[in-house]
Amino acid sequence: MELEYQGIMVWVEQRDGIAKPVSWQLIGQARRLAEKIGAEVFALVQGHQVEHLAQEAIYYGADRAYLVDHPVLKDYRTQPYSVSTLEVIRQVKPEIVLIGATYQGRDLAGAIATHLPTGLTADTTMLDVEPNPSRLLLASRPAFSEKLMATILCKKYKPQMATARPGIFEALPRDESRTGQILRVPFDMKEEEIATKVLQFYQDEERVNLEDAQVIVAGGRGIGGPEGFAVLKELADLLGGVVGASRPCVEQGWIKNTHQVGQTGKTVRPKLYIAVGISGAVQHTIGMTGSDVIVAINKDPNAPIFNVAHYGIVGDWQQVVPELIRVIKAGKPAVAGAGGAAK
Ligand SMILES: Cc1cc2nc3c(=O)[nH]c(=O)nc-3n(C[C@H](O)[C@H](O)[C@H](O)COP(=O)(O)OP(=O)(O)OC[C@H]3O[C@@H](n4cnc5c(N)ncnc54)[C@H](O)[C@@H]3O)c2cc1C
Repeated sequence: MELEYQGIMVWVEQRDGIAKPVSWQLIGQARRLAEKIGAEVFALVQGHQVEHLAQEAIYYGADRAYLVDHPVLKDYRTQPYSVSTLEVIRQVKPEIVLIGATYQGRDLAGAIATHLPTGLTADTTMLDVEPNPSRLLLASRPAFSEKLMATILCKKYKPQMATARPGIFEALPRDESRTGQILRVPFDMKEEEIATKVLQFYQDEERVNLEDAQVIVAGGRGIGGPEGFAVLKELADLLGGVVGASRPCVEQGWIKNTHQVGQTGKTVRPKLYIAVGISGAVQHTIGMTGSDVIVAINKDPNAPIFNVAHYGIVGDWQQVVPELIRVIKAGKPAVAGAGGAAK
Protein backbone atom coordinates (compact mmCIF):
# COMPACT_ATOMS: atom_id res chain seq x y z
CA MET A 1 0.00 0.00 0.00
CA GLU A 2 1.45 3.36 -1.04
CA LEU A 3 1.07 5.88 1.78
CA GLU A 4 0.91 9.59 1.09
CA TYR A 5 2.68 10.41 4.35
CA GLN A 6 5.60 8.18 5.36
CA GLY A 7 8.40 8.15 7.89
CA ILE A 8 9.04 9.62 11.33
CA MET A 9 10.85 12.95 11.34
CA VAL A 10 12.78 14.25 14.34
CA TRP A 11 13.91 17.85 14.67
CA VAL A 12 17.57 18.05 15.68
CA GLU A 13 17.93 21.02 18.00
CA GLN A 14 21.38 22.56 18.15
CA ARG A 15 23.16 25.59 19.48
CA ASP A 16 26.58 26.61 18.10
CA GLY A 17 26.77 23.29 16.27
CA ILE A 18 26.22 21.20 19.40
CA ALA A 19 23.06 19.09 19.45
CA LYS A 20 20.74 18.97 22.44
CA PRO A 21 20.67 15.43 23.88
CA VAL A 22 16.87 15.35 23.43
CA SER A 23 17.45 15.20 19.67
CA TRP A 24 19.26 11.86 19.92
CA GLN A 25 16.79 10.63 22.54
CA LEU A 26 13.90 11.28 20.14
CA ILE A 27 15.73 9.65 17.23
CA GLY A 28 16.11 6.59 19.49
CA GLN A 29 12.40 6.57 20.25
CA ALA A 30 11.51 7.23 16.60
CA ARG A 31 13.61 4.16 15.68
CA ARG A 32 11.64 2.03 18.17
CA LEU A 33 8.31 3.27 16.77
CA ALA A 34 9.54 2.88 13.19
CA GLU A 35 10.40 -0.78 13.76
CA LYS A 36 6.77 -1.41 14.77
CA ILE A 37 5.26 -0.03 11.58
CA GLY A 38 8.08 -0.61 9.10
CA ALA A 39 8.83 3.09 8.64
CA GLU A 40 12.01 5.08 8.10
CA VAL A 41 13.46 7.63 10.52
CA PHE A 42 14.34 11.09 9.21
CA ALA A 43 16.32 13.79 10.97
CA LEU A 44 15.82 17.46 10.20
CA VAL A 45 19.04 19.38 10.81
CA GLN A 46 18.97 23.17 10.50
CA GLY A 47 21.66 25.72 11.22
CA HIS A 48 24.81 27.11 9.69
CA GLN A 49 27.85 24.87 9.18
CA VAL A 50 26.09 21.95 10.81
CA GLU A 51 26.67 19.16 8.30
CA HIS A 52 28.46 17.16 11.01
CA LEU A 53 25.12 16.94 12.87
CA ALA A 54 23.45 15.31 9.88
CA GLN A 55 26.12 12.61 10.06
CA GLU A 56 25.69 12.35 13.84
CA ALA A 57 21.93 11.91 13.40
CA ILE A 58 22.64 8.87 11.24
CA TYR A 59 25.05 7.47 13.84
CA TYR A 60 22.24 7.84 16.40
CA GLY A 61 19.68 5.95 14.31
CA ALA A 62 18.31 8.09 11.45
CA ASP A 63 18.03 6.56 7.98
CA ARG A 64 18.05 9.92 6.28
CA ALA A 65 19.04 13.40 7.37
CA TYR A 66 17.58 16.48 5.70
CA LEU A 67 20.10 19.29 6.03
CA VAL A 68 19.12 22.94 5.71
CA ASP A 69 22.35 24.88 6.09
CA HIS A 70 22.10 28.64 5.68
CA PRO A 71 23.60 31.72 7.40
CA VAL A 72 20.15 32.99 8.50
CA LEU A 73 19.71 29.75 10.45
CA LYS A 74 22.87 30.25 12.52
CA ASP A 75 20.92 31.15 15.68
CA TYR A 76 17.40 29.97 16.38
CA ARG A 77 14.71 32.43 15.34
CA THR A 78 11.06 31.50 14.92
CA GLN A 79 10.62 32.92 11.44
CA PRO A 80 13.43 31.33 9.39
CA TYR A 81 13.30 28.07 11.34
CA SER A 82 9.54 27.66 10.98
CA VAL A 83 9.56 28.62 7.28
CA SER A 84 12.29 26.09 6.48
CA THR A 85 10.71 23.39 8.66
CA LEU A 86 7.39 23.86 6.87
CA GLU A 87 9.11 23.62 3.50
CA VAL A 88 10.76 20.33 4.45
CA ILE A 89 7.58 18.86 5.95
CA ARG A 90 5.56 19.79 2.85
CA GLN A 91 8.17 18.21 0.55
CA VAL A 92 8.96 15.08 2.55
CA LYS A 93 5.45 14.46 4.00
CA PRO A 94 6.44 12.53 7.14
CA GLU A 95 3.56 10.77 8.90
CA ILE A 96 4.91 11.72 12.35
CA VAL A 97 6.99 14.72 13.46
CA LEU A 98 8.70 14.71 16.88
CA ILE A 99 10.26 17.78 18.48
CA GLY A 100 11.90 18.19 21.91
CA ALA A 101 9.74 20.05 24.43
CA THR A 102 12.51 22.58 25.08
CA TYR A 103 12.06 26.36 24.92
CA GLN A 104 12.99 26.41 21.24
CA GLY A 105 11.21 23.16 20.40
CA ARG A 106 7.96 24.38 21.92
CA ASP A 107 8.27 27.63 20.03
CA LEU A 108 8.96 25.93 16.71
CA ALA A 109 6.27 23.27 17.11
CA GLY A 110 3.61 25.84 17.95
CA ALA A 111 4.66 28.04 15.05
CA ILE A 112 4.51 25.27 12.44
CA ALA A 113 1.31 23.75 13.85
CA THR A 114 -0.53 26.98 13.11
CA HIS A 115 0.35 26.62 9.42
CA LEU A 116 -0.30 22.91 8.95
CA PRO A 117 -3.81 21.47 8.83
CA THR A 118 -3.12 19.14 11.74
CA GLY A 119 -2.86 19.01 15.53
CA LEU A 120 0.04 19.08 17.98
CA THR A 121 0.25 17.18 21.26
CA ALA A 122 2.52 19.18 23.52
CA ASP A 123 4.86 18.00 26.26
CA THR A 124 4.35 14.27 25.93
CA THR A 125 6.03 11.77 28.25
CA MET A 126 5.08 8.54 26.44
CA LEU A 127 5.06 7.83 22.72
CA ASP A 128 3.85 4.68 21.07
CA VAL A 129 2.33 3.75 17.75
CA GLU A 130 -0.55 1.51 16.73
CA PRO A 131 0.48 -1.22 14.31
CA ASN A 132 -0.51 -1.24 10.63
CA PRO A 133 -2.84 -0.34 9.12
CA SER A 134 -3.80 2.55 11.46
CA ARG A 135 -0.18 3.63 12.28
CA LEU A 136 -1.65 6.13 14.75
CA LEU A 137 0.72 7.92 17.08
CA LEU A 138 -0.28 7.36 20.70
CA ALA A 139 0.99 10.51 22.37
CA SER A 140 0.51 10.50 26.14
CA ARG A 141 0.97 13.25 28.69
CA PRO A 142 -0.12 13.99 32.23
CA ALA A 143 -3.46 15.79 32.41
CA PHE A 144 -5.83 17.24 35.02
CA SER A 145 -3.12 18.62 37.33
CA GLU A 146 -0.98 15.55 36.62
CA LYS A 147 -3.61 13.26 38.18
CA LEU A 148 -4.03 11.05 35.13
CA MET A 149 -2.34 10.24 31.84
CA ALA A 150 -4.19 11.19 28.66
CA THR A 151 -3.38 9.51 25.36
CA ILE A 152 -4.06 11.86 22.48
CA LEU A 153 -4.62 10.72 18.90
CA CYS A 154 -4.72 12.72 15.71
CA LYS A 155 -6.87 10.43 13.59
CA LYS A 156 -7.74 12.47 10.55
CA TYR A 157 -4.79 14.67 9.73
CA LYS A 158 -1.12 14.28 8.90
CA PRO A 159 1.55 14.69 10.01
CA GLN A 160 0.83 13.63 13.56
CA MET A 161 2.95 15.95 15.66
CA ALA A 162 4.17 15.91 19.23
CA THR A 163 6.70 17.60 21.42
CA ALA A 164 8.33 15.30 23.98
CA ARG A 165 10.04 16.11 27.24
CA PRO A 166 13.82 15.85 27.35
CA GLY A 167 15.25 13.01 29.40
CA ILE A 168 12.30 10.63 29.03
CA PHE A 169 13.52 8.50 26.14
CA GLU A 170 16.86 6.79 25.82
CA ALA A 171 19.16 7.54 22.92
CA LEU A 172 20.57 4.57 21.04
CA PRO A 173 24.31 4.05 21.41
CA ARG A 174 26.21 6.17 18.87
CA ASP A 175 27.23 3.77 16.10
CA GLU A 176 29.72 4.97 13.50
CA SER A 177 29.10 1.92 11.37
CA ARG A 178 25.54 3.07 10.66
CA THR A 179 25.04 4.50 7.20
CA GLY A 180 22.33 6.70 5.75
CA GLN A 181 21.61 9.46 3.28
CA ILE A 182 22.29 13.15 3.82
CA LEU A 183 20.04 15.29 1.63
CA ARG A 184 20.72 19.00 1.36
CA VAL A 185 17.54 21.04 1.08
CA PRO A 186 17.92 24.41 -0.66
CA PHE A 187 16.65 27.34 1.36
CA ASP A 188 16.41 30.91 0.22
CA MET A 189 15.66 33.59 2.74
CA LYS A 190 17.31 36.96 3.03
CA GLU A 191 18.31 38.51 6.33
CA GLU A 192 16.26 41.61 5.42
CA GLU A 193 13.11 39.47 5.31
CA ILE A 194 13.49 38.47 8.96
CA ALA A 195 11.87 40.68 11.55
CA THR A 196 14.09 39.66 14.50
CA LYS A 197 17.86 40.01 14.93
CA VAL A 198 20.03 38.26 17.48
CA LEU A 199 22.27 40.96 18.93
CA GLN A 200 23.86 39.20 21.85
CA PHE A 201 23.51 36.23 24.20
CA TYR A 202 23.41 36.82 27.95
CA GLN A 203 24.23 33.98 30.25
CA ASP A 204 21.65 33.77 33.05
CA GLU A 205 23.90 32.88 35.98
CA GLU A 206 20.99 31.48 37.95
CA ARG A 207 19.64 29.31 35.17
CA VAL A 208 20.44 25.67 35.54
CA ASN A 209 20.53 23.18 32.74
CA LEU A 210 19.41 20.03 34.53
CA GLU A 211 18.49 18.10 31.41
CA ASP A 212 22.00 18.16 29.95
CA ALA A 213 23.89 17.81 33.26
CA GLN A 214 26.19 14.82 33.73
CA VAL A 215 26.16 15.13 37.52
CA ILE A 216 23.28 16.35 39.72
CA VAL A 217 23.42 16.79 43.48
CA ALA A 218 19.78 17.14 44.53
CA GLY A 219 18.47 18.26 47.89
CA GLY A 220 15.17 17.49 49.56
CA ARG A 221 13.23 18.71 52.57
CA GLY A 222 15.73 16.84 54.74
CA ILE A 223 18.41 19.44 54.09
CA GLY A 224 16.39 21.82 56.23
CA GLY A 225 16.66 25.17 54.47
CA PRO A 226 18.25 27.30 51.76
CA GLU A 227 21.67 27.30 53.42
CA GLY A 228 21.83 23.52 52.86
CA PHE A 229 21.86 24.15 49.11
CA ALA A 230 25.10 26.14 49.44
CA VAL A 231 26.79 22.99 50.77
CA LEU A 232 25.27 20.86 48.00
CA LYS A 233 26.47 23.44 45.45
CA GLU A 234 30.02 23.06 46.72
CA LEU A 235 29.81 19.29 46.20
CA ALA A 236 28.19 19.74 42.77
CA ASP A 237 30.91 22.21 41.70
CA LEU A 238 33.64 19.80 42.76
CA LEU A 239 32.05 17.06 40.65
CA GLY A 240 31.42 19.37 37.68
CA GLY A 241 27.68 19.15 38.22
CA VAL A 242 24.62 21.21 39.09
CA VAL A 243 22.12 21.33 41.95
CA GLY A 244 18.66 19.79 41.74
CA ALA A 245 15.80 19.83 44.24
CA SER A 246 12.58 18.13 45.28
CA ARG A 247 9.32 20.04 45.08
CA PRO A 248 8.91 20.97 48.76
CA CYS A 249 12.22 22.89 48.61
CA VAL A 250 10.87 24.91 45.68
CA GLU A 251 7.54 25.45 47.42
CA GLN A 252 9.35 26.67 50.54
CA GLY A 253 11.29 29.15 48.41
CA TRP A 254 14.65 27.56 49.28
CA ILE A 255 15.60 27.32 45.60
CA LYS A 256 14.19 28.34 42.20
CA ASN A 257 11.73 26.07 40.40
CA THR A 258 14.15 25.60 37.48
CA HIS A 259 16.01 23.18 39.81
CA GLN A 260 13.02 20.92 40.44
CA VAL A 261 13.27 17.29 39.41
CA GLY A 262 10.21 15.08 39.02
CA GLN A 263 6.74 14.82 37.63
CA THR A 264 6.09 18.56 37.63
CA GLY A 265 9.77 19.43 37.27
CA LYS A 266 12.48 18.18 34.93
CA THR A 267 13.19 14.62 33.86
CA VAL A 268 16.92 14.03 34.06
CA ARG A 269 19.38 11.36 32.93
CA PRO A 270 22.78 12.28 34.38
CA LYS A 271 25.65 9.85 34.79
CA LEU A 272 25.51 10.46 38.55
CA TYR A 273 22.53 11.58 40.67
CA ILE A 274 23.13 12.19 44.36
CA ALA A 275 19.85 12.47 46.30
CA VAL A 276 20.38 14.18 49.65
CA GLY A 277 17.56 14.23 52.23
CA ILE A 278 15.01 13.13 49.64
CA SER A 279 12.51 10.46 50.72
CA GLY A 280 11.90 8.98 47.28
CA ALA A 281 8.25 9.76 46.53
CA VAL A 282 7.20 8.46 43.13
CA GLN A 283 6.56 12.01 41.88
CA HIS A 284 10.26 12.68 42.45
CA THR A 285 11.75 9.36 41.35
CA ILE A 286 9.82 9.39 38.06
CA GLY A 287 12.10 12.25 37.04
CA MET A 288 15.46 10.69 37.94
CA THR A 289 15.42 6.90 37.66
CA GLY A 290 16.93 7.16 34.17
CA SER A 291 20.22 8.26 35.83
CA ASP A 292 23.14 5.88 35.28
CA VAL A 293 24.17 5.80 38.95
CA ILE A 294 22.01 6.96 41.87
CA VAL A 295 23.53 7.60 45.29
CA ALA A 296 21.11 8.30 48.15
CA ILE A 297 22.02 9.95 51.43
CA ASN A 298 19.25 9.70 54.02
CA LYS A 299 19.15 9.25 57.78
CA ASP A 300 16.19 6.88 57.54
CA PRO A 301 17.34 3.39 56.47
CA ASN A 302 13.78 2.61 55.33
CA ALA A 303 13.43 5.65 53.08
CA PRO A 304 11.99 4.52 49.70
CA ILE A 305 14.78 6.35 47.87
CA PHE A 306 17.04 3.40 48.75
CA ASN A 307 14.82 1.18 46.55
CA VAL A 308 15.92 3.07 43.45
CA ALA A 309 19.48 3.91 44.56
CA HIS A 310 22.49 1.93 43.38
CA TYR A 311 24.47 3.07 46.44
CA GLY A 312 23.01 4.23 49.73
CA ILE A 313 24.55 6.05 52.66
CA VAL A 314 22.50 6.01 55.87
CA GLY A 315 23.40 9.05 57.90
CA ASP A 316 22.90 12.72 58.59
CA TRP A 317 23.71 14.64 55.43
CA GLN A 318 25.36 17.36 57.53
CA GLN A 319 28.07 14.85 58.38
CA VAL A 320 28.15 12.88 55.13
CA VAL A 321 28.25 15.70 52.57
CA PRO A 322 31.05 17.77 54.20
CA GLU A 323 33.03 14.54 54.55
CA LEU A 324 32.56 13.80 50.84
CA ILE A 325 33.68 17.34 50.02
CA ARG A 326 36.73 16.98 52.27
CA VAL A 327 37.68 13.63 50.74
CA ILE A 328 37.23 14.84 47.15
CA LYS A 329 39.32 17.93 47.87
CA ALA A 330 42.04 15.80 49.46
CA GLY A 331 41.83 13.35 46.56
CA LYS A 332 41.58 10.45 49.03
CA PRO A 333 39.09 7.57 49.30
CA ALA A 334 36.25 8.11 51.82
CA VAL A 335 36.78 6.97 55.40
CA ALA A 336 34.27 5.03 57.51
CA GLY A 337 32.35 6.85 60.22
CA ALA A 338 30.41 9.47 58.34
CA GLY A 339 27.56 7.08 57.61
CA GLY A 340 26.74 3.42 56.99
CA ALA A 341 26.21 1.80 53.62
CA ALA A 342 22.60 0.76 53.04
CA LYS A 343 23.12 -1.26 49.92
C1 LIG B 1 0.65 16.14 41.48
C2 LIG B 1 1.96 16.12 42.24
C3 LIG B 1 3.14 16.40 41.57
C4 LIG B 1 4.35 16.38 42.28
N1 LIG B 1 5.51 16.66 41.59
C5 LIG B 1 6.69 16.57 42.25
C6 LIG B 1 7.92 16.79 41.56
O1 LIG B 1 7.96 17.13 40.38
N2 LIG B 1 9.06 16.65 42.26
C7 LIG B 1 9.11 16.30 43.59
O2 LIG B 1 10.20 16.19 44.15
N3 LIG B 1 7.95 16.11 44.25
C8 LIG B 1 6.76 16.25 43.63
N4 LIG B 1 5.62 16.07 44.33
C9 LIG B 1 5.70 15.91 45.80
C10 LIG B 1 6.01 14.49 46.23
O3 LIG B 1 4.81 13.76 46.36
C11 LIG B 1 6.73 14.48 47.60
O4 LIG B 1 5.93 15.16 48.54
C12 LIG B 1 8.10 15.13 47.58
O5 LIG B 1 8.87 14.58 46.52
C13 LIG B 1 8.82 14.90 48.90
O6 LIG B 1 9.99 15.67 48.91
P1 LIG B 1 11.21 15.30 49.85
O7 LIG B 1 11.63 13.91 49.58
O8 LIG B 1 12.20 16.38 49.71
O9 LIG B 1 10.58 15.49 51.29
P2 LIG B 1 10.15 14.40 52.41
O10 LIG B 1 9.23 13.38 51.81
O11 LIG B 1 9.69 15.19 53.54
O12 LIG B 1 11.51 13.66 52.73
C14 LIG B 1 12.57 14.23 53.44
C15 LIG B 1 13.61 13.13 53.65
O13 LIG B 1 14.77 13.70 54.24
C16 LIG B 1 15.29 12.78 55.17
N5 LIG B 1 16.08 13.53 56.16
C17 LIG B 1 15.62 14.41 57.09
N6 LIG B 1 16.65 14.95 57.76
C18 LIG B 1 17.77 14.40 57.24
C19 LIG B 1 19.16 14.58 57.50
N7 LIG B 1 19.60 15.43 58.45
N8 LIG B 1 20.04 13.86 56.77
C20 LIG B 1 19.64 12.99 55.83
N9 LIG B 1 18.33 12.80 55.53
C21 LIG B 1 17.41 13.51 56.22
C22 LIG B 1 14.07 12.10 55.77
O14 LIG B 1 14.41 10.83 56.31
C23 LIG B 1 13.15 12.01 54.54
O15 LIG B 1 13.32 10.77 53.89
C24 LIG B 1 4.39 16.07 43.66
C25 LIG B 1 3.18 15.79 44.32
C26 LIG B 1 1.99 15.81 43.63
C27 LIG B 1 0.72 15.49 44.36
